[in-house]
Amino acid sequence: MMKGAHFHTAAAFALLALATFHLVSASDPSPLQDFCVALNTTQTAASAVFVNGKFCKDPKLATADDFFFSGLQIPRNTSNPVGSNVTAANVEQIAGLNTLGISLARIDYAPNGGLNPPHTHPRATEILMVMEGTLYVGFITSNPDNRLFTKVLCKGDVFVFPVGLIHFQFNIGEVNAVAIAALSSQNPGVITIANAVFGSNPPINPDVLTKAFQVDNNVVQYLQKQFWYDNN
Ligand code: MN
Repeated sequence: MMKGAHFHTAAAFALLALATFHLVSASDPSPLQDFCVALNTTQTAASAVFVNGKFCKDPKLATADDFFFSGLQIPRNTSNPVGSNVTAANVEQIAGLNTLGISLARIDYAPNGGLNPPHTHPRATEILMVMEGTLYVGFITSNPDNRLFTKVLCKGDVFVFPVGLIHFQFNIGEVNAVAIAALSSQNPGVITIANAVFGSNPPINPDVLTKAFQVDNNVVQYLQKQFWYDNN
């Protein structure tokens, strides 16, 4: 009798886990075919309807080049206001990633303070590996706790930034740093916090930001006048 009861409890938990898995889909939906190589937008009829993703090329016309990208070994220029440069390898660069729910990025950081500033990916979890250098990284949980999780990463170290959470990487070393990030979307999206809030187009009414940030109106006007560099 006890064995039966345990079996039922286990089965109920398994069903609950399955139901939860189906209800909480944190990455792009699973494909219903081997692949769906994206067509260039120029090849797509102007009158075509919007779909969640891109139109597929005839699978018989797909080639190895649809699944290929070269260039992530190339160091990128970090001489900019934040001292970092993100090189994406997502569905825009690799058409074969369409519907597959995954992509890559290379991130270069200038010595002594190169920063990938606080940002979120609305559609992806990120797993990042340091290839060169030393990074202070972190993410912040959602309200009400807003807990900060941080770590200093050296070459070969890996850190995870859960989907949607604000995160950053900061080069605390005296040499260039390089990281490779994998993301659980073909098109993760990026919202850089400062750029979105203080550099929106058109600007947010400063009264909104003055109250939101609990600062003097002059501080908000100063911030809204700045040029907010996009390192992506
Ligand atoms: Mn990121």
